[in-house]
Amino acid sequence: MKKILITGGAGFIGSHVVRRFVKKYPQYQIFNLDALTYAGNLENIIDIENEPNYTFIKGDIVDAPFIDQLFAEHEFEGVLHLAAESHVDRSITDPLSFVKTNVIGTMNLLNAAKATWQGNYEGKRFYHISTDEVYGSLGAEGLFTETTAYDPNSPYSASKASSDHFVRAYGETYGLPYVLTNCSNNYGPFHFPEKLIPLFINNIIQNKPLPVYGDGKYTRDWLFVEDHAVAIDLVFHEGVNHDTYNIGGFNEWQNIDLVKLLCKIMDEKLGRAAGTSEQLIAYVKDRPGHDLRYAIDASKINKELGWKPSVTFEQGLERTVNWYLENQTWLNNITSGEYATYYEKQYAN
Ligand code: NAD
Repeated sequence: MKKILITGGAGFIGSHVVRRFVKKYPQYQIFNLDALTYAGNLENIIDIENEPNYTFIKGDIVDAPFIDQLFAEHEFEGVLHLAAESHVDRSITDPLSFVKTNVIGTMNLLNAAKATWQGNYEGKRFYHISTDEVYGSLGAEGLFTETTAYDPNSPYSASKASSDHFVRAYGETYGLPYVLTNCSNNYGPFHFPEKLIPLFINNIIQNKPLPVYGDGKYTRDWLFVEDHAVAIDLVFHEGVNHDTYNIGGFNEWQNIDLVKLLCKIMDEKLGRAAGTSEQLIAYVKDRPGHDLRYAIDASKINKELGWKPSVTFEQGLERTVNWYLENQTWLNNITSGEYATYYEKQYAN
């Protein structure tokens, strides 16, 4: 059985990738390595925990001796690396933890893969999952392509950019077989409620203010998380060695318009009068270094690998809202305790 390591599989995107791989590929033994930080939650993958081709390992990618030992023991043939510190606001208050996990953690995995594979790269693949935020900010026009120069503005995007560079450098310097993807904002089930869409769904349910940064004109491209998992599956199996693909939803939204659409869907779902949830919108002080617009050109993966999103934004958003309404215990377990303290600190201004 081919042994595949997926890092960060208890997080948002990782849980969808792990589920897909465990169910679709019984010929793979899937190892899910996750430190279970505040963002990692085994409830996200409870439905597959007893599958015979699935093993969970609790561990920290920053711990080099542990990672070396793990690779020496299992000799993974494939790595899908998703573990990361992923929240921009947290990177502003604690940048060093982003350097540790996103840069040093990635280096540890690269070193362990290199040491294990020892130049015998046949059938091996290191897949690094990254973000479009490495490209920085766009003006009103244009799209990020795979050749856009990196220009990160937040500690989060700087740490992801750095890890991307190291992955490419290991490819060039040591011949390590890698693929890399840069994806736009994901949304969907199991999204941690510090991120915009689940945060606002939760606040609307609870009649709490909806904190919109600045003037709400920030523009992002949004992709349903299951469509990202499909793209990851495709790139892992069919992507060209040493190549990069942008992944996006062809779906740009200004934050304020997105929030209004979400309010409309929530009013319908909760049986509230039209316009009720919109009254919760509260503009708050802007985030420092806030990028104005991200927009991704995903035509390369579309042309070369035949991938495109399977759901429209309206369909994906409705599925997401339904999921959160049906899984309020999951939401309540997270929004109590430590997260509640973080939330108060973050939005106290
Ligand atoms: P997430 O924060 O939901 O999950 C990250 C997971 O990594 C968690 O389970 C956490 O416990 C684990 N982790 C963190 N530090 C670790 C460490 N030191 N050792 C082992 N595990 C650790 O993140 P996500 O939104 O699922 O993002 C996954 C990946 O996709 C990240 O690399 C992120 O940069 C990238 N990405 C995310 C988005 C998005 O919109 N969420 C878009 C593009 C790319």
